[in-house]
Amino acid sequence: MRVLVTGGAGFLGSHLCERLLERGDEVICLDNYFTGRKQNISHLRQHPYFEEVRHDVVDPFKYEVDQIFNLACPASPVHYQHNPIKTVKTSVMGAINSLGLAKRVNARIFQASTSEVYGDPTVHPQPESYRGNVNPIGPRACYDEGKRCAETLFFDYHRQNGVDIRVVRIFNTYGPRMLPNDGRVVSNFIVQALQGQDITIYGDGQQTRSFCYVDDLINGFLLLMNQDEITGPVNIGNPTEFTIRELAELVIELTNCNSKLIQQPLPADDPMQRKPIIDIAREKLGWEPTIQLKEGLTKTIAYFDKLLSQKS
Ligand code: NAD
Ligand code: UDP
Repeated sequence: MRVLVTGGAGFLGSHLCERLLERGDEVICLDNYFTGRKQNISHLRQHPYFEEVRHDVVDPFKYEVDQIFNLACPASPVHYQHNPIKTVKTSVMGAINSLGLAKRVNARIFQASTSEVYGDPTVHPQPESYRGNVNPIGPRACYDEGKRCAETLFFDYHRQNGVDIRVVRIFNTYGPRMLPNDGRVVSNFIVQALQGQDITIYGDGQQTRSFCYVDDLINGFLLLMNQDEITGPVNIGNPTEFTIRELAELVIELTNCNSKLIQQPLPADDPMQRKPIIDIAREKLGWEPTIQLKEGLTKTIAYFDKLLSQKS
């Protein structure tokens, strides 16, 4: 199969490209390198079935492909709030351009949606049927509403034009190839711990997240994309919930560092709790996570340790 991955040089995209090549697909990796890095895909460059394209999904693109994975969009609050108008354009125009291509070439298309469509959830844990609690005018809205609109477009192209869609709602995922300055909590805490800096807890640290290791997530992507029964949306995430303070303590334990925990203000609209119900993924895809936080953090710490020692 020929597969297009938008956002292919990013954290998740680079792992996905790797897995697609491993199973024998031809991969076109499209990225504008806003938060992606050429280094993430440098080991794939020699592969005869791998092709890189520098392009922005806001502008139309055309390739003869069998499948499209639409991942292009900054995912860290720091990066998506840097230019919020561009974030909306990336989500919405990127979805329109990707769906237009899928329609023309009759390709199956996958959308990397997010648990952020649930906003600051008042239902806990979150099933796919929950419609969410998003502030449409807050600082996270560019991402949350952009992703919600992208889901709308996917389902309208499906109903109106018969486009063959798959939609996954990704819960916080971590692992090697996150940027050291990505700004998301796992990479922040690990980099701070390894550099002996204070660990920055926003608010009192009692807010919760449920962290999924990247390899588990990519297994879920491939299972959803390569079955014919359901379109989604499907929650993919690890349902074991941690407070942010517990995460910080675990990072300190695993890195054996002397960092102190310090409190910083909680950003506006920061969701207080998040945990997926994954019954649909379990029943329809036979998917569930296999790597628990301690094991995944150990692998991620080893990655950052090597990366930071190469830099110094
Ligand atoms: P990332 O920031 O590492 O990757 C995003 C990639 O998209 C980068 O390579 C970036 O350069 C590229 N990109 C951004 N804007 C673009 C544009 N206009 N045109 C072309 N390329 C563009 O983030 P990630 O964690 O790998 O996330 C990938 C996808 O998964 C995103 O759509 C994100 O919203 C979604 N997601 C991720 C998580 C997570 O926990 N990692 C959670 C929910 C949803
Ligand atoms: N967070 C934190 N310190 C940091 C970075 C993030 O306490 O250095 C908190 C943040 O306020 C949020 C949680 O960790 O409550 C997860 O943040 P992240 O940006 O990783 O993802 P999201 O909020 O989108 O789930």
